[in-house]
Amino acid sequence: MSANANGGPEASVDADVIVVGAGLAGATAARLLVAAGHAVAVFDKGRGPGGRLSTRRVDDAAFDHGAIALQAQGDFSEWLAEAEQAGAAARMGTAWVGVPGMNALVQHALGPVRPRWGITVAALQRAGGRWIARDREGQPLAVATGLVLAIPPPQAIALIEAGRSHGSGDATAAVALGALCAALGDAQHDPVWAALLRVSAAAAARLRIGASGAGGGVVDGPLQRVSLDDAKPGRADAGQVVLHARSDWSIAHLDDDAEAVADRLVAASIDALPINASEVVSAVAHRWRYALPVRGCRLTGDDALRIALAGDAIGWEAGAGVHAAAQAWRSGLEAAARVRTWYADQPKS
Ligand SMILES: Cc1cc2nc3c(=O)[nH]c(=O)nc-3n(C[C@H](O)[C@H](O)[C@H](O)COP(=O)(O)OP(=O)(O)OC[C@H]3O[C@@H](n4cnc5c(N)ncnc54)[C@H](O)[C@@H]3O)c2cc1C
Repeated sequence: MSANANGGPEASVDADVIVVGAGLAGATAARLLVAAGHAVAVFDKGRGPGGRLSTRRVDDAAFDHGAIALQAQGDFSEWLAEAEQAGAAARMGTAWVGVPGMNALVQHALGPVRPRWGITVAALQRAGGRWIARDREGQPLAVATGLVLAIPPPQAIALIEAGRSHGSGDATAAVALGALCAALGDAQHDPVWAALLRVSAAAAARLRIGASGAGGGVVDGPLQRVSLDDAKPGRADAGQVVLHARSDWSIAHLDDDAEAVADRLVAASIDALPINASEVVSAVAHRWRYALPVRGCRLTGDDALRIALAGDAIGWEAGAGVHAAAQAWRSGLEAAARVRTWYADQPKS
């Protein structure tokens, strides 16, 4: 826990609702709850907005190393068009990208909400009819009656399990938490290894000629997608290329060393793309352990426990054709609507 100016411990926040995770799902829920007048404490372990709609700086170049572009669907299209009006999104062929980076979409979703960045919630304890979010030292970060849990299911289960070690509430709550964890355990994400390459201007120009739009082109070998990020609207022209490995390759190499993976993906790109080894200026790899849902969680929350689940796997159905980010956004709307029913008859704090 951090210390205040007098060296004493910093008090935890009292709120109506704790939101854990400020990716697209948590950001969407938090904004709606703040707009409805609730006191909301939002925590995200990242240094800034993005989550899997992330934009990462390597030296002086920015890479969209999570989702490369988004597909518009249903009312998510309207939200993307609204983000475009606000200057946070642009169309690229039939897809959409954030401007100046994919993370601008999450910043747009947050609106005036200011999460506490760089704070990892390590445990979520349900006791005395309240949720207590605790840090790695076990100190309380926030106490609230309601919780929106907007992180990938395996991570959500870990936080609830860790909360139990701080003492559980009554026996009924313990049973309900067990059922919640079991339902979350149904969900599954595939991993994706990404590689962030800087290539020479000549190589970037050749790639641009062959590009079919953001995230275009299934290529050979371990590679699933290649994106020339510097060809996206609002980006600096710095030869940024993002490679995404296929999910089966990513699963097989999940625990490999990042440097070895970067070397393998660079070699694959030289095989599959019109670039030479001497034109690759730098390369780093990033492992997305929970990249894309392949199985969803049917349970969307528990009103007695006052927990609403959100995230791309929540309510997502394999084969239904709903893209992950659209589901994340929708789950945030639905989580906020659920939370509002809990406080419908109560004065807001
Ligand atoms: C490589 C890749 C390619 C993709 N391609 C596409 C695509 O083409 N189309 C598409 O629709 N979607 C795509 N996606 C998926 C899309 O990015 C996600 O569906 C969407 O961003 C998920 O949003 P979310 O809010 O559910 O989760 P996340 O973005 O994962 O947000 C969760 C947040 O919780 C925070 N967090 C986690 N644990 C804690 C903790 N203990 N304490 C505090 N904070 C915590 C994280 O920092 C993160 O910001 C892709 C994703 C990846 C990685």
